[in-house]
Amino acid sequence: MSLKARINALRESVPDEVKIIAVSKFHTAETVMEAYNAGQRVFGESRVQEVVAKQAELPNDIEWHFVGSLQRNKVKQIAPFVSLVHSLENERLMLEIERQAAANNRKIPCLLQIHIAEEETKSGFSPDECREFLAEGTWRDCKHVQIVGVMGMATFTDEKRKIREEFRLLKSFFDEIKAKYFANDLSFKEISMGMSDDYPIAIEEGSTMIRVGTLIFGER
Ligand SMILES: *Cc1c(COP(=O)(O)O)cnc(C)c1O
Repeated sequence: MSLKARINALRESVPDEVKIIAVSKFHTAETVMEAYNAGQRVFGESRVQEVVAKQAELPNDIEWHFVGSLQRNKVKQIAPFVSLVHSLENERLMLEIERQAAANNRKIPCLLQIHIAEEETKSGFSPDECREFLAEGTWRDCKHVQIVGVMGMATFTDEKRKIREEFRLLKSFFDEIKAKYFANDLSFKEISMGMSDDYPIAIEEGSTMIRVGTLIFGER
């Protein structure tokens, strides 16, 4: 199947209201362009250097999402153009995003990354850390950081039941903090969950954005 056919097949299997983020990390700008020519406009990257290079070279109507671990000293490089940061996971990172967004005179939309998996290696706030972060309230003063939802990654396993449980946990955490902190905030509506291997379960459990790499671009 061609890249175009794979994108089209994926689109047909996903409800219209679920956004597809094509995760193009480690693939060339030419490959991204092929997906662009198939109509894809939203791409996800996980390394700063790589997204900066691609953004400079590729069409301006691409939405670049940052999906990887983000180091504070690199926020400055993506602040002028990034459309959504999926990996806000601590207060110090938020303060730096605030600083760089202000310097660029813009608001940067961000998702609170929540650790829902079993693996210790995966990053993000634990649900309790995130509850404390929200209760503490510094985020309210960060007028250039717009928190628009949550993101999570399930455990890498074949156990579908476990994956479903973790996605369900993220959805219920989203509902909890929506009610408590964002009830009147229409822009707080995103649940970024689901990758190549588990996106159908994620959609059944309420995902609004799936981050798909391998299924579109092949193995990295
Ligand atoms: C690489 C990556 C993806 C895409 O993974 P695939 O299994 O290739 O679909 C999604 N989310 C994050 C955070 C990633 O780092």
